[in-house]
Amino acid sequence: MKKVDHIGIAVSSIDNALTFYEDTLGLSLVKVEEVGNQGVKVAFIDGGNIKLELLEPLHNESPIAKFIEKKGEGIHHIAFGVEGIEERIKELQAKGVRMINETPKPGAGGAAVAFMHPRSAHGVLYELCDKSNIKGE
Ligand code: ZN
Repeated sequence: MKKVDHIGIAVSSIDNALTFYEDTLGLSLVKVEEVGNQGVKVAFIDGGNIKLELLEPLHNESPIAKFIEKKGEGIHHIAFGVEGIEERIKELQAKGVRMINETPKPGAGGAAVAFMHPRSAHGVLYELCDKSNIKGE
């Protein structure tokens, strides 16, 4: 793992949450986009050394909707920035880590992402996030 790329935070409404992040905390919104295959709208906040990824469910079947239903709004995952995500997944699996995604899937901004199972990671949902194929990253 090279670095922590971002922290994913589940929110009921990005519009409502942005009032807090922008007006109260004085942070800047980088971009908003929808990631249909994960059922989420995503807003990236510039946190200086790290990005905050606000995740709003697009529908009730979204994993984020289920997360908020069970636990309420809050920290959802921590994402490591990696290169060669397919190799990293194989290395982790060889070391006994169970992956939720055994092959990478498209995430926000065109990154390739894969999640580790929290039971293999001391209770934390970790994402691998590979942006090496994106221009300008
Ligand atoms: Zn993420």
